[in-house]
Amino acid sequence: MNRRNRSGSFVLLFLAVGSHLLDHRASVMAWAFLVFNFLIYPQLAYWRARRSVDPMQTELDNLVIDSAFFGVWLASLHFPIWIAFTMAISTTINLTVFRGRQGTRQALLGLGLGILLTAPFSGLSFQADTNAVTTSLCLLGLTLYLLTVAEGAYGRAIKLHEAQEKLRESERALATANGALQQQLHEIRLLQDQLRQQANHDALTGLYNRHYLNATMAREVERCRRDGQPVSVLLIDIDHFKQINDSHGHQAGDEALRHLATLLRAHARVADIVCRYGGEEFLLVLPGMPKDVAIDRAEAYRRAFSQASIEHGDVRMHATLSIGVSSTSDHLTTPEALIAHADAALYQAKALGRDRVVSSSAAVAAEV
Ligand code: GH3
Ligand code: MG
Ligand code: MG
Repeated sequence: MNRRNRSGSFVLLFLAVGSHLLDHRASVMAWAFLVFNFLIYPQLAYWRARRSVDPMQTELDNLVIDSAFFGVWLASLHFPIWIAFTMAISTTINLTVFRGRQGTRQALLGLGLGILLTAPFSGLSFQADTNAVTTSLCLLGLTLYLLTVAEGAYGRAIKLHEAQEKLRESERALATANGALQQQLHEIRLLQDQLRQQANHDALTGLYNRHYLNATMAREVERCRRDGQPVSVLLIDIDHFKQINDSHGHQAGDEALRHLATLLRAHARVADIVCRYGGEEFLLVLPGMPKDVAIDRAEAYRRAFSQASIEHGDVRMHATLSIGVSSTSDHLTTPEALIAHADAALYQAKALGRDRVVSSSAAVAAEV
């Protein structure tokens, strides 16, 4: 990772310090340490980082060791200004780049430690001068080092920019996917509504169907029983409906069914359950409505329908209704009993000649 940079910059330092040692006719010990520190140690540092479980962390620790070595050189060479500046600033920048203020402190501590360990042997004195070759090598080293740092910063900035761009792209993709998901959810909800509508309604007339009646009637009857309210039921059947189909066609029959549905719906209250019970039979559950009022209502429907002229194309049709009425007022408590009695009354209405309203007690009386 940092092998190339450290090895390269240490070779330059080797040359700079070596030229200085040459100038000062240094001891063999100093030359040996120079070779070790600037040519061998960088390879050892790399080897140590590579074997570590956390190479990055170890490499940053190596930078602190670098600074301690530099401290040793600073004190032992008596602080030649260009060498001292080159070493101190490069090791400080190195650690600051990766660890911020903490890195600065660590670099200074490393330098200080190296100086402290060496000072007892070399003494603390200052010989600031370096010759032209050493100064030039230091300047060259510093220049190359700063350019390397700048290049690293540029590389990181580019990577950061690319990462941000990718992030923005993913955000955009996410927003698009989210929009599509919302749209699908919306469509699913619409479909659900449509399915619910289809499940509960009769397609021809738009009225509730028998499925809906079965699901709700018991609840309505029970609610009214709790509130001490009556419930009445009208079972309505078109008279001789088969003849309408036979004379004018099935479509005309459908038109008659729709016509009746519209009539029933037009006079229904919000709480009434108006449903198509079967072929040409309709059932109305009238919560809170006493039987006499229900009979009046049935009578109104019968009259209105018999007076209506149902148009289908060129055809004008007339038909009548037979209606059976039952009510909880007659001590009927279950939906089944209410429907059975309304059906019996309707049967009676048919038997009595059609086009009439018969209430369940009258039907029972007629049976007797
Ligand atoms: P009644 O007076 O005794 O009620 O005689 P009716 O002819 O009305 O009764 P019947 O039960 O004999 O005939 C009912 C007819 O209703 C038979 C069937 O073909 C027709 N029908 C059932 N459903 C529909 C429908 O959705 N559209 C049309 N056009 N006819 C239907
Ligand atoms: Mg019928
Ligand atoms: Mg009929």
